[in-house]
Amino acid sequence: MSDFSKYKTMELPRIVVVGHDVLPSIPENCLRLGLPASALIVADDVTRKIAGKEIAQLLGESGYNVETKVIKGADAGTVASVQELADEIGPAFLAGVGGGRPIDVAKCASFNAGMPFISVPTAATHDGIVSSKASITVRGVKESLDAQTPIAVFADTGIIVKSPFRMLAAGCGDIISNKTAVLDWKLAHVKKNEEYSSYAATLSEITADMLIENAGQIKPGVEESAWQVIKALVSSGVAMSIAGSSRPASGAEHKFSHALDRLAKAPALHGEQCGIGAIMMMSLHRGNWQSIRDALAAIGAPTKAGQIGISGEEVIQALVRAKDIKTERYTVLGDEGLDAEEAEELAKATGVI
Ligand SMILES: [Zn+2]
Repeated sequence: MSDFSKYKTMELPRIVVVGHDVLPSIPENCLRLGLPASALIVADDVTRKIAGKEIAQLLGESGYNVETKVIKGADAGTVASVQELADEIGPAFLAGVGGGRPIDVAKCASFNAGMPFISVPTAATHDGIVSSKASITVRGVKESLDAQTPIAVFADTGIIVKSPFRMLAAGCGDIISNKTAVLDWKLAHVKKNEEYSSYAATLSEITADMLIENAGQIKPGVEESAWQVIKALVSSGVAMSIAGSSRPASGAEHKFSHALDRLAKAPALHGEQCGIGAIMMMSLHRGNWQSIRDALAAIGAPTKAGQIGISGEEVIQALVRAKDIKTERYTVLGDEGLDAEEAEELAKATGVI
């Protein structure tokens, strides 16, 4: 008898279509995936106009019955209402069309309803477009909930390039923060014997390195830039799927961002906060934090709290409270975290405040 008892499940998207004018390929690919007859599109007011309507029309012309649910927020109540509608009409799949919220809602509702989900990002703002976690507000607090891994991703660079550049730059921040997330994972492996996948970690790290190297090429209004960023977000999502958790792409810099979401008067975009967090966490790791800062600056992503309307005091408080977020995830913050004095010193030394 072998004493080998390890086993593991990986859920990956089956079809990923990235590039110019990919929406027309949706119906044929959905048929290839064995998703016939009916679809429920989840969009918000803006993304319905940008892509939702066109997808509904394309699917309709291919014989699909299509319902569209227009949502506002990404809260538990909205997820429940989408799930209710899905249970009622019983579509073959849900399609999330949006930058963040519609994808989060569709991903979570389809998981709860046990239905497949396809992801159609209209902006490249974070790696949630491929992952199996959804950011949903529950009783006023943003939570990371279990959600359906998309069975297919359709990322149209012609649409994404027209989204506000701030969103694309934030997406870069989310990818670059993989650098500190991987260091945290290695640290947890060494110190806490946490299971570690070098395959997932390497993929996540290479993805960030490629973007750091090409930071000067990420420019507003250039479709090639949208291509680079979406490609990186997809491979970051695949790294998480291989790991079976968000570990390869979420460490102390994400804890910092989640703490800001909870305490800041006006939190900024997820990727913007994670990018700034990565500068500081890389300094705690005694790594080359300047290269993270310089890459973010070259892209046009924020490197200082003031650029995103976050006060110095909010940064300090978020650094102090970061250790209380996802306590089971060990990071460079250690079990003790930082006190206010250490937090202030770190934020000032890295030029964040
Ligand atoms: Zn993230």
